[in-house]
Amino acid sequence: MEDILPEKILVTAALPYANGPLHLGHLAGAYIPADVYVRYQRLKGSDVIFICGSDEHGVPITIRADKEKITPQEVVDRYHFMMKDSFRRLGIDFDNYSRTSLQLHHKISQDIFLDLNRKGYIREQEVKQLYCGTCARFLPDRYIEGECPHCHSNGARGDQCESCGRWLEPEQIISPKCKVCSSSPEFRSTKHWYFRLSEFQKRLEEWQASKEDWKSNVREFCSGWFKEGLTDRPITRDIDWGIPVPLPGAEGKVLYVWFDAPIGYISSTVEWAQLQGTPERWRDYWCDARTRLIHFIGKDNIVFHAIVWPAVLMANAEFILPDQIPANEFLTIEGEKLSTSRNWAIWADEYLAVFPPDPLRYYLAANAPENKDSDFAWKDFQAHNNSELADILGNLVNRSLSFIQKQFDGKTPEALTLANEDHAILETLKEATGRIGRSLDAFQVRRAAVELMDIARAGNKYFNDSAPWSTIKSDRNRCAATLNTTLRLEAALSILMDPFLPFSAEKLWKMLNGPGSHRDQRWDEAHKLSFPAGHKLGEREILFNKIEDDIIEVQIQKLRSSST
Ligand SMILES: [Zn+2]
Ligand SMILES: [Zn+2]
Repeated sequence: MEDILPEKILVTAALPYANGPLHLGHLAGAYIPADVYVRYQRLKGSDVIFICGSDEHGVPITIRADKEKITPQEVVDRYHFMMKDSFRRLGIDFDNYSRTSLQLHHKISQDIFLDLNRKGYIREQEVKQLYCGTCARFLPDRYIEGECPHCHSNGARGDQCESCGRWLEPEQIISPKCKVCSSSPEFRSTKHWYFRLSEFQKRLEEWQASKEDWKSNVREFCSGWFKEGLTDRPITRDIDWGIPVPLPGAEGKVLYVWFDAPIGYISSTVEWAQLQGTPERWRDYWCDARTRLIHFIGKDNIVFHAIVWPAVLMANAEFILPDQIPANEFLTIEGEKLSTSRNWAIWADEYLAVFPPDPLRYYLAANAPENKDSDFAWKDFQAHNNSELADILGNLVNRSLSFIQKQFDGKTPEALTLANEDHAILETLKEATGRIGRSLDAFQVRRAAVELMDIARAGNKYFNDSAPWSTIKSDRNRCAATLNTTLRLEAALSILMDPFLPFSAEKLWKMLNGPGSHRDQRWDEAHKLSFPAGHKLGEREILFNKIEDDIIEVQIQKLRSSST
């Protein structure tokens, strides 16, 4: 019985920070690859749930609230709903999209903190921290600005210098100033709670030694940390926005956002189970060793997901550990580093105001920053849309369906006998289905997107070589068999397209007048799909429109003129 149970998979994508809208860097780094993977697993028949939510705590949110003179809650309300809507419009199909400001999440995070504390994995420590007398508060790293000790540029933050990119500690900043009121802060004593991460080094190293299939960027990053030696990490902060530290004497302190954010994966799953009316069902995933837990993240999150979070899970010992952490590199924009502060970014909503979602999904998948940074360039995006989606995939569908409309009254022609070339293209389809699946199983979304386009390319070649416009006059049965085979290919394509091009996949399935939803079909059976002779096809539509040069020029101008 064991091996016929569907594989149980819990997929998460990094919780986006609710202090700004979504941009293409977010999408390329975590959400598109995760959604492609999940859609594929659903078609495979796996028992998969896809969990995410807004990360609504942390200092960048309070900074924005201060700047706009509104409350942090108003900031996160605005961006939570904005991001949720963008995800929906892009077809990023979470089973649950939660938010960390929910009481449910606060309670679960505090319970985990208290559990670790009870087990002796948390200790108190007095530390010196910069305090602003004018603002009457301790300054979080990002509220401190001054001269960088390395490159001596001004405007280095307490956690990082944007000019030279080095990570900093607040005490390294030369002539530090409070970012809010510009006065000079002083060092004062304060108490924080530290997670004893150092005690987990050996277990983490042993655990990761078994993860030979992890991507090299994750393995190398972690081995660098192990080599330096893990140190205990403070998991509390002196700010008033966040989850209160549930201990006496901890008034005014909250859990560090990086402690509570990954716990959001658990609380979002709990919320999902509640919304399903099966409140305990989250345990079927989080507390079952057969579940594969997969965290899709960008490379800036590796330390938290591959080191700190697994150590917290080990300390707590109630939940499964991550099985895979496919971390992506960064997306650059027109050859330059993406920067939200300079507005050198393309925002999801700006894109969606002009273009449909699928060409972006396809481009970011085919160009995913998997092993190195990749670049989003408007002209390259246009080229992928026009010369691949429109000229190859769209063209195959358009000309074959037009032909059937004209010559066969829009009904599926009957294939009396298949010729060698018909068998050959169906064999190609079957092999490619397996190949794309293997690429996606290995988190190689980029390769899978190329393999998808390769089948459409092979389909076009088959259609050309079979020359139905000529056999319609010389051998009508041969012509019918060609079109019948082409329809089988297209039925399969609407399944295989779904991870990358879900809206177009649905459109194609409708054009073929397939039964129910294409999403009820099975990946492994896609190559066997066929329609009976005489099956009436649906309304024809253009699958992909070409994008004109002037529209692309407007986008390039907009990016250049709105950045600083
Ligand atoms: Zn610097
Ligand atoms: Zn101040």
